[in-house]
Parts: sequence; C-alpha cells; structure tokens
Amino acid sequence: MTLVCPKCGSGDVRSYRAIYESGTHVGSVAGYQHTVSSTLAATVQPPQDSPKVGRVGCSAVLTLFAPFVIASFVPGWWNGNVRGIALVVLFALGVYVTIRVFRGARDAGYPARAQAWNRSYYCMRCSHRFLL
Ligand SMILES: [Zn+2]
Repeated sequence: MTLVCPKCGSGDVRSYRAIYESGTHVGSVAGYQHTVSSTLAATVQPPQDSPKVGRVGCSAVLTLFAPFVIASFVPGWWNGNVRGIALVVLFALGVYVTIRVFRGARDAGYPARAQAWNRSYYCMRCSHRFLL
C-alpha cells in the first residue's frame, strides 16, 4: 500500500508511530529516565492517560484516607463502637468508588485516542496531518 498525502500528493508520508519511534530516545542517567525527542517527534506524542489517572489517584488516596483522618479526630473509634464500624464501611465504600473511578478514567476516551494516533500520518513535504 502506497500512502499519498491527500493535500499535496507527496508519497513521503510517515505514520506518527514511525516518527515518534525514530525521533525519540529514552535513556537513563544515574537511575533517572529521560526522554529526548526531536522537534517533530515531540509533536506526535502518543496519547497519555496517566495525567488523568494521576489526578484520579490523588482523589482516590484522599477518599481512602479520609476515614482515618476523620478517625484521628474521633477518640476511641477503634473500640468496636458504632463509629468504628461506620468508618470501616466508609473505607470499604472508598475502595469501591476508587475502583470504579479508576476503571472509568482508564476507559474514558483513551482507547479511542490511542486508536486515532495509530491511524495518524504526517506528510514530510507539506506538514499536513491526516487520519487513515
Ligand atoms: Zn503533503
């Protein structure tokens, strides 16, 4: 299959993946991983879902630890009283909500964006970007 730029007709068309993989170098210096990208490779980064998951992670941690934070203000909550049970239930609810939210964040839009990225091409002649 010969790819041709729909704008200028040039055959010098490359996939985002090819540009990204040929223009990106991942190295390690003193245990710290760093990524060096060419200017063009930097513009065709694959979609990332980690920032969103990171934010969800923060709220998840808050949700999970909220009962313990509350507990620290309620003396004797661990003595098997009603408040202790309520906190355990609250914690279980936090775990449940966290799992649901994590799944939602993972699924929301990311596969579609990753699929679009896999079908994205760049014209080396006129810089036109297009989907196949
Ligand atoms: Zn072109």
